[in-house]
Amino acid sequence: MKPSAFEYHRPATPEEAAELLAEFGDDAKLIAGGQSLMPMLNLRLAAFEHLIDIRQLTGLSGITHDSDSVAIGATTNQATVGRSTTVLESVPLLSRATPLIGHFPIRNRGTLGGSVAHADAAAEYPAVVLSLDAELEALSSTGRRTIPASEFFTGMWTTALRDDEILTKVTFCPGSRSGFAINEFSRRKGDFAMAGACVAVKIDDNSRVERCSIGLFGLGSIPMRATSTERSLVGCSIDELQVRDVGHVAVSDLESVPADLHGSAAYRTRVGATMVSRA
Ligand SMILES: Cc1cc2nc3c(=O)[nH]c(=O)nc-3n(C[C@H](O)[C@H](O)[C@H](O)COP(=O)(O)OP(=O)(O)OC[C@H]3O[C@@H](n4cnc5c(N)ncnc54)[C@H](O)[C@@H]3O)c2cc1C
Repeated sequence: MKPSAFEYHRPATPEEAAELLAEFGDDAKLIAGGQSLMPMLNLRLAAFEHLIDIRQLTGLSGITHDSDSVAIGATTNQATVGRSTTVLESVPLLSRATPLIGHFPIRNRGTLGGSVAHADAAAEYPAVVLSLDAELEALSSTGRRTIPASEFFTGMWTTALRDDEILTKVTFCPGSRSGFAINEFSRRKGDFAMAGACVAVKIDDNSRVERCSIGLFGLGSIPMRATSTERSLVGCSIDELQVRDVGHVAVSDLESVPADLHGSAAYRTRVGATMVSRA
């Protein structure tokens, strides 16, 4: 299939892109790597009169860091994120999540910002962003604002970004004495996860959990945190953690776990518990 006709815009700056969004409103859509949007347009699941291409905009891509944070431009492609030593050293969860996204050609065009803004509940990056309490910067014709990850994912494929806003960068603040892992199950390598979990654990000098985050993906309409389980682990000795129990509790109060031809809700929930335990 081919997409319905649209006018293609290639602004020179992020500000110019924001002006176009303000001008065309609902009739316009940003396109970055096109790895999610193009299939939707080609299958005519979506149609827009104006496509605004932001992939080559200067100032929207690249990885910068200082002693406190790592900022990744929204149009930085996933392959670049995956091979960055800065990301590996400071945000290892993001490095570990990247090879799980589709296949190399997809990661070579797909962008960090596109994945986060698309907000697929089964995608890896949104769950990582949520688990690490990242901050997301949005630009519109009226200025910039920062959105905490905890407020960003608002519904199925829906975020706190307004129609006239561009996600410009995602900022992570690395922690010390922390460990990170991501685990997911999919039927074939490269498929979206049927269920997955990312876990970040910070321990204190006595090897007790000081902070814990458990991000769940593929287990609802949005990526989620198992907040009550996270809280219950604070203060526990890591040597005494019963990880199987942690997995079961983390998924025990999930509502609206998806069911489809790949698996029932009960099956996905069981898989989710195992992914949390392994992570
Ligand atoms: C075969 C296949 C397998 C895949 N497997 C996986 C997988 O396992 N895991 C996974 O996470 N993803 C997977 N993907 C999706 C892939 O990761 C996409 O790259 C990603 O979801 C979207 O990034 P993009 O840059 O291509 O965005 P686009 O497709 O260009 O845009 C997606 C949406 O985000 C919006 N958008 C893009 N950039 C911005 C921005 N800066 N500000 C505001 N809105 C923006 C667009 O308007 C659009 O609505 C797969 C894709 C394919 C084709």
